[in-house]
Amino acid sequence: MVNASSTGHAFDAGTRLRCETCGSEIQIIKACGCNPSDQVLQCCGKDMTAENAAQAADGMP
Ligand SMILES: [Zn+2]
Repeated sequence: MVNASSTGHAFDAGTRLRCETCGSEIQIIKACGCNPSDQVLQCCGKDMTAENAAQAADGMP
C-alpha cells in the first residue's frame, strides 16, 4: 500500500536494466513468476531503466 516507488512490473528474461546514475547494467536471466509480479530493481536509490533486449549485441567487438 505504501510502496510508492514500485513500478509493479515484471521484466522478461533477457531484459537489460541500466542505472542512469552510474551506468551499471544488469540482465534478467529468469523472469519473476510471482503473481502479482512486483519486481523492482534499483541502483543508486532509483529504479533501473529497462532497455530493449534486441540490442544485446550492442557494444560488442
Ligand atoms: Zn547506479
